[in-house]
This record gives sequence, structure tokens and C-alpha cells, in this order.
Amino acid sequence: MDIKRSIRHKLGTVATELYLGDDLLGSALLQKLLLERKCVIVADVALKNLYAAELAAKLGAKLLTVPSGELAKRLETATHLIDQLLQMGVDKETTVIALGGGVTIDLVGFVASICLRGLPLILIPTTLLAMVDAAVGGKTAIDTAFGKNLIGTLYDPEAIVIDVSFLKTLPEKEWMNGLGEILKMGLIYDPSILALAEKNPKDQALVVRAVEGKIAIVEQDPKERGLRRILNFGHTIGHALETVSQYEIAHGEAVAIGSLAESYLSMRLGYLSKEEFDQIEKLYKRLPLQLPRLYAQEKLLDAFRYDKKNINGQVRVVLIDRIGHAMEFDGNYCLAVSQERLKETLDWLEKVYL
Ligand code: NAD
Repeated sequence: MDIKRSIRHKLGTVATELYLGDDLLGSALLQKLLLERKCVIVADVALKNLYAAELAAKLGAKLLTVPSGELAKRLETATHLIDQLLQMGVDKETTVIALGGGVTIDLVGFVASICLRGLPLILIPTTLLAMVDAAVGGKTAIDTAFGKNLIGTLYDPEAIVIDVSFLKTLPEKEWMNGLGEILKMGLIYDPSILALAEKNPKDQALVVRAVEGKIAIVEQDPKERGLRRILNFGHTIGHALETVSQYEIAHGEAVAIGSLAESYLSMRLGYLSKEEFDQIEKLYKRLPLQLPRLYAQEKLLDAFRYDKKNINGQVRVVLIDRIGHAMEFDGNYCLAVSQERLKETLDWLEKVYL
């Protein structure tokens, strides 16, 4: 692992320092950033003995844990965490450090954004998916019974520390998960990502390119009024799969399947050439994707109703017209798609992949 660099960037309205490198938590720069603060670390409980307890001891910080897994991303867990923070006597000067994957980042980010109307926040993502996506862009989220991420805030952390040395302990299946979001970035924004992933899906340069892509998009549209919507490519179908499978399918994997299906939809609507679609399909077919079991199609179609991009009950989907380019539709970056087309795409997915 040989990425040795730090990037400082301004995301949204607050300046967020973004550090990306190898073994950063041992570096003098980071020690300084963290040691000078009154901190509480909130970590995924699965990381307590792996990283969190050691980091807390090093920083002299208090440590709280939250449960692992998507089902932890709900209001009950958030209110319990708020109670714990208040009981511990946090004040506006207490920095909350979120340590974990996307679930922990979303949940703890949400809590930090509302507790005492906002506590300073530092994100330390530990999964590939959280490094390239969840930690960058200031979105926090909580799931509801109606669907994923339906509650949340936009809240910029003071710093994001992307330390690729955490990836050493990442289970194989979690790599696939992160790759789902990385490849999506390749399809919508940076075609060089697909070429790199084809050669070596664990190339460290993929982390850098995906993070740079996300920053470039978010900086242009921090509040998701237009361009930022392209990050939702693959997510209309992806979120529906996650919801209907009751999170049996992990987010990144659902996004990978969703990206392939929405590439198919882009082709069927006449925007993406058959040649480029075939190229995409060839790459995705080589990935060890865990394909969904047969989910009743009506349930998936019903789940589309809760997609956050919908307007007046119409399901809107991000589309691509070539590899590395998401389409703009009068500043909207997504297009209303008929039930027939959505159904046809799900039929294709079932026929080819189930
Ligand atoms: P996750 O947080 O559940 O982590 C996956 C698993 O990896 C967990 O079991 C965790 O305990 C384990 N783990 C974490 N770091 C590890 C490490 N270094 N070594 C070993 N095991 C480790 O899942 P995820 O895939 O990281 O994140 C998915 C979530 O991210 C979803 O809820 C999704 O909605 C959210 N997300 C948010 C945004 C955003 O912009 N806020 C963007 C993309 C995804």
C-alpha cells in the first residue's frame, strides 16, 4: 500500500480536511489533529478489540460502541446513543469520532448533527465502501420501515481520515461491496476507473480516483439540487433490492446489481450503445456478485415508490449515455421512467441473473 498523500478540500460550506494515506493514525499530523481535542470515539462494536479500544487509549478518549449491521441504522439506536452521550456530559466542544463502515458513519454522523444542535465530527471510515463513498459528502442517514436513508441531515465533518491500512482486516465480501460504488463512479464520471478495476480490482489507485470523483461532484452541488444526483446511479434498483431483501443484500452489492440493470435500462431507452453495454456487462459478470434470490417483482416495483428522487409519484432514474458519463435532463440528471420500462428491466435481471 503506497498511497502517501493528504488532500485538503472544502466540501459544502464548512472546510473539511480530508487525509488519505497509509497508516495515518500513527502519523504525527493525525496525532496532533486528534490529541488536541476532547473526544469521544463511537465505534462499530465489531471493531472494539480490533482498533477502537487501542485508539481510545492512545487518545485518552472515551469509547462508546454501536451495533454492527444495517439494522443498527435506525432511530432507536440513534436516541440510545444520544442518551449515552448526554449522560457522559458532552458539550459543544466535544468532538465525536465515528470509527467504522458506512453504517456507523451514517448513524454517528446523524447523531453528531442533532445532539446539542451539532457536535464537531471526525469520520474515520474502515471499510472500502465507507472510504470511497459514505464518509465523503456530508450526508448522514437513518433507515425507516418504508425504506433506506429516509431520515437524515447534511452535516460536514471537520475532518475525514481515510487510512487504507484498515483494509488489511476487511473480509473479502466487503471488498466487493466497496467495488460496487467504485465501479458506479467509473460508469458515471471517470471511465479510467473501469480499466483499472478490470486489471486489478484491489488497486489502491481506485480509492484515490473514487474519492476524487466524489469530491469533484459534491463540491459542485453540495445540497443535491442537480448534478449530485448522478451519484444515485444504480441506486433506484439497488435500494429497492436492499429494502425488499431486508438488507440481506449489502448496499455495495445491491448498487453493483442496480448499476448493471440501470445500464441495461439506459441502453433500452436508446441512450447507451449496445457495444458499451456489452462491455459493462462483461466486466460485471466477472465479479463475484451474490445475486438476489427471486424477489416478487411487485415488491420491488412497490419499493420504487419510496425513492427520494421521485416527484409526483413518478420514478426517476439516473441514466448514462456512455461509460463515464451520466446524462443531464434540463438540470435534473435523472429521468421519469415508465412502469413498463422498469418492469422490463426487472424481467431482464431475473431472466439473466436469477
Ligand atoms: P458496514 O458499516 O455494515 O460494514 C460492513 C461490515 O464490515 C460490518 O460487519 C463491520 O463490522 C465490518 N468492518 C468494518 N470495518 C472493518 C475492518 N476494517 N475490518 C474488518 N471488518 C470491518 O457497511 P458498509 O458497506 O461500510 O456501509 C454500508 C452503509 O453505508 C449503508 O447503510 C449505506 O446506505 C451507507 N452509505 C452512505 C453513504 C453516504 O453518502 N452517507 C454513501 C454510501 C453508502
